[in-house]
Amino acid sequence: MAVRMVQDRTWQLQAACRGPESALFFPPTYAERKDERDAREGHAKSICALCPVRSECLDYAVGVGEQHGIWGGLTEAERRLLVTPAPT
Ligand code: SF4
Repeated sequence: MAVRMVQDRTWQLQAACRGPESALFFPPTYAERKDERDAREGHAKSICALCPVRSECLDYAVGVGEQHGIWGGLTEAERRLLVTPAPT
């Protein structure tokens, strides 16, 4: 089932981040200050909050181990916390 979700990317046709604002979801090529990063990520997350395919997007990013950008409303660091096993 998880493999099918990763291979099926038709959900991307409904992505709220399609278009010129897609650049918000990834760091710029220059060194970004913390306040700039916070503002960019906050704006991107506000778009994700209204996205009709948020869960599909997050499943995809976690499934493929996406290392960069905001997917499903979570940063790469936040997604890592989802998949990191709890200490025993
Ligand atoms: S959840 Fe966010 S990153 Fe994923 S498709 Fe929607 S707007 Fe884009």
